[in-house]
Amino acid sequence: MSDKTYPPSSELVANAHVDAAKYEEMYAASIKDPEGFWNEHGKRVDWIKPFTKVKNVNYDFGNVSIKWFEDGSLNVAANCIDRHLATRGDQTAIIWEPDDPTDEAQHITYNELHENVCKMANVFKNLGIGKGDRVVIYLPMIPEAAYAMLACARIGAIHSIVFAGFSPDALGARINGCDAKLVITADTAPRGGRRTKLKDNVNQALLHDTDDVKCLVVKRTGDQIAWRSNDDYWLHEELEKVDADCPPAEMNAEDPLFILYTSGSTGQPKGVVHTTGGYLVWASMTHEITFDYHDGDIFWCTADVGWVTGHSYIVYGPLANGATTLMFEGVPTYPDAGRFWAVCEKHKVNQFYTAPTAIRALMGQGTEFVEKYDLSDLKVLGTVGEPINPEAWNWYNEVVGKGNCPIVDTWWQTETGGHMMTPLPGAHATKPGSAMKPFFGVEPVVLEPTSGEEIHEYPTEGVLCMKDSWPGQMRTVWGDHERFQKTYFSDYKGYYFAGDGCRRDEDGDYWITGRVDDVINVSGHRMGTAEVESALVAHSKVAEAAVVGYPHDIKGQGIYCYVTLMSGEEPSDDLRKELRTWVRQEIGPIAAPDLIQWAPGLPKTRSGKIMRRILRKIAENDYGSLGDTSTLADPSVVDELIENRMNRD
Ligand code: ATP
Ligand code: MG
Repeated sequence: MSDKTYPPSSELVANAHVDAAKYEEMYAASIKDPEGFWNEHGKRVDWIKPFTKVKNVNYDFGNVSIKWFEDGSLNVAANCIDRHLATRGDQTAIIWEPDDPTDEAQHITYNELHENVCKMANVFKNLGIGKGDRVVIYLPMIPEAAYAMLACARIGAIHSIVFAGFSPDALGARINGCDAKLVITADTAPRGGRRTKLKDNVNQALLHDTDDVKCLVVKRTGDQIAWRSNDDYWLHEELEKVDADCPPAEMNAEDPLFILYTSGSTGQPKGVVHTTGGYLVWASMTHEITFDYHDGDIFWCTADVGWVTGHSYIVYGPLANGATTLMFEGVPTYPDAGRFWAVCEKHKVNQFYTAPTAIRALMGQGTEFVEKYDLSDLKVLGTVGEPINPEAWNWYNEVVGKGNCPIVDTWWQTETGGHMMTPLPGAHATKPGSAMKPFFGVEPVVLEPTSGEEIHEYPTEGVLCMKDSWPGQMRTVWGDHERFQKTYFSDYKGYYFAGDGCRRDEDGDYWITGRVDDVINVSGHRMGTAEVESALVAHSKVAEAAVVGYPHDIKGQGIYCYVTLMSGEEPSDDLRKELRTWVRQEIGPIAAPDLIQWAPGLPKTRSGKIMRRILRKIAENDYGSLGDTSTLADPSVVDELIENRMNRD
């Protein structure tokens, strides 16, 4: 790990919402007096009926119950739209950048957003949707996806977004999982120059449906589609029947806002439930402070709205703050590997937020794709989704940020609603690969994995848990409160257990070491697989690596590495030796790989995370029972890996 720290520029510090002193002061206040702190900051959103109770939380296994602002009422859509109209009705709320760069971008003002959302809400009502009903959104990254989310929020319906890359089976399971009354989709979806047949997928997903689920279709491309029966509707036809008058419904702070399935990188996806008041406070506050967002800035989060990152940092957080948020329909490599940077230049993006998987992929393509573009408007860069290797961090910092843009490495989960640990741009000198500090109100603890005892001293390493609740915390697993309690509150009693391991360094800064399951024990030495992966990726011929443990007669566990080489590099036994020597030198002899398998591709979820549980099975030579693979982006990768597996005893 690098010892080097990267302090923000004095100019940035001077303008920042939160500098070092303010962070210390606010953080201390948030922990010492959470009631007082959230009583004040809960007011950053507009309440119809102001709350008088701030927090009511029970973490005891068997009785877990989490409530924030429980006697207040509000409407999320009114907070994201209506309250801005008087001052910023003509300001752009959403910039939409289409898949094909030669198609025209759209600028949607807050006034237009208001009209579009109200009309869509009235269409939903006409289709029989009301408070508490579930609506599945299966749309590409088009403005209608944001309208649909906000239209649900406006009338108190609960949305469940299913990423448009998911198969009919995965979609069907999610429609049934929440008994949705309505699915909104598009005819077909262009992405990276190809087209996905969304409406066809819905038809397949609903083939055996007996509940008369209605389907509303956005005409995105005009491609030919098959109609089911009289339960299908064109959105544009329904819009002609409604006006733009739709008063926002009064919702209790604890009414569900949405259900969202986790990405499933460790197991069966869980239907995470977020509620109205606490979630909005958390999403808007973290958006403003983590990215140091200022009025007039252009904010771009490259996630899909099908993931929680898209919920909190494309739609709810930015719009609650009256921001201009960019929504991108395409992929980072179409028409070429310069697309992200072309879009940054074109729309003068100030804050850019993406995932390590995208950074690593673009890094492998060379710097010329970045250097072609003027990125001088960038102020803050962000990353989320996986631990970021120092190699990728440095590339992001130097090549994209030109050393001038603090990188916020934000650690959080679908379950947490928003950022939990991250450096703040004007407050902290960053360290490549460290999530640094807890956000306000977050009280992380490091536990000894087997005894569950809190470790107070540092440096140290162990299991990451949260001592207390925060407003954005998930409230339950949809339809299965038992599973909620079992997953998060049973292993370490009295804490929220995130499933991740971490290290707290000598300065008290946090480093996420990956999933607890990804810690391996080699001859009595515990290490995070992420560390070995980082060492491998630091080699000039390696594009990507995934490391898992496998049973080893002598060492207990051996180190099994899947390595993807840079394009143009040839695999060879000499290169295997070279990589083994390299990791020895980088980390130490204990971390030397036992087996290295060349992997042209790695099994990833559709959100781009490596599914290590599958790699573990293959490494253990136990590939017969791979478990749920429905969220894999490309299942054929797995067959290739099984065929060429290295451990065949
Ligand atoms: P499932 O819970 O179904 O297995 P998932 O955990 O991949 O899926 P998400 O909620 O999308 O679903 O991901 C959260 C996880 O992503 C975290 O628990 C952590 O392991 C990882 N993660 C997110 N951000 C970071 C980060 N900045 N650094 C390290 N790890 C991160
Ligand atoms: Mg998870």
